Amino acid sequence: MKIPFVDLLAQYRAHQAEIDGALRDVIESTAFIGGRFVKEFEESYAREYGIKHCVSVANGTDAIYIVLRMLGIGPGDEVITTAHSWFSTAETIGQTGATPVFVDVDEFYNIDPARIEAAITPRTRAMIPVHLYGQAARMEQIQEICLRRGLQLIEDCAQAHFATHAGKRVGTFGVAATFSFYPGKNLGAYGDAGAIITGDDELATRFRMYANHGQLKKHEHQIEGVNSRLDGLQAALLSKKLPHIHDWTRRRQAVAELYRQQLAGFEPVTVPECAPGSTHVYHLYVVRVPNREPLREFLRDRGIETGVHYPTALPFLTAYRARNHQPQEFPRAHHNQDTILSLPIYPEMTEEMVTYVVEAIRAFYGK
Ligand SMILES: *Cc1c(COP(=O)(O)O)cnc(C)c1O
Repeated sequence: MKIPFVDLLAQYRAHQAEIDGALRDVIESTAFIGGRFVKEFEESYAREYGIKHCVSVANGTDAIYIVLRMLGIGPGDEVITTAHSWFSTAETIGQTGATPVFVDVDEFYNIDPARIEAAITPRTRAMIPVHLYGQAARMEQIQEICLRRGLQLIEDCAQAHFATHAGKRVGTFGVAATFSFYPGKNLGAYGDAGAIITGDDELATRFRMYANHGQLKKHEHQIEGVNSRLDGLQAALLSKKLPHIHDWTRRRQAVAELYRQQLAGFEPVTVPECAPGSTHVYHLYVVRVPNREPLREFLRDRGIETGVHYPTALPFLTAYRARNHQPQEFPRAHHNQDTILSLPIYPEMTEEMVTYVVEAIRAFYGK
């Protein structure tokens, strides 16, 4: 059996007529940049999310950068974030001239609320928790620290569309939140795409202005901005996909439950746990295993693709070599980087496919 890591074609096949029609509408109305398809998506995403504003941008990385810039974060400032994430979270902090300050992860792979306060200095201005792999970080504790210490709270929701903590959606705890619609994300475009959500009218206007060359009206440039726009084709596609997101999430959760049941009590493999009060939308299904690279090869030989997210925790990347971070500063992230393994997960995966993956893993350790 062939089990790809993700199968984007399966989703297209299931909704092909609807998607083809949406793309044709954009082409025939030549609304390629701006226009009604972009506006419609922004409105429906905000409505579905239960928040006042959605500002679409070109990708999830720009979304973080734009929020930080419009909050006035810059040189001399420090921004706290997790030690284990996709590079964008740290990279964008650096792009503003500020310094990313890393905090080790908890047992749920998210920033550890118990370690945050030790990282706060007089220069700390903001914090960016990431809901990694699709599981909501422990936002009640994080929000309480931010309020008490006067820090701006920005959520990186790129992997966690519609996940919740304490019954509240991620992305609604802080001043603004960012999303990616990269093709493989839970809600994915057919190219780069991203968005910012916020309940703040004035900030929404500033995000929109900065993302469009510092203008709100054509040729009235109020500040220097950037060119970071969602295009009409991506917007129309995302509008067609949005009504299916909750169904796809339930199917991801069902696949995760099958993995959990089938791997229960199988000692070499540590399955993901959910933090109290957090839901998990399983963008990725990440287990911890001994002997990872030989296992990956064994699975590859049986047609099973796996991933590693991410093989080097942020403090240990070459980009931050000058800081000379040591493993003992981030013991969990450092341990995880060599043991984590992402198993295939997507809404179209069947029980038979999960069983095939689990049996191959058991065969590897049984030899
Ligand atoms: C995907 C991702 C981003 C960046 O999104 P792009 O759309 O690829 O720029 C940022 N943060 C996290 C955690 C991500 O997974």
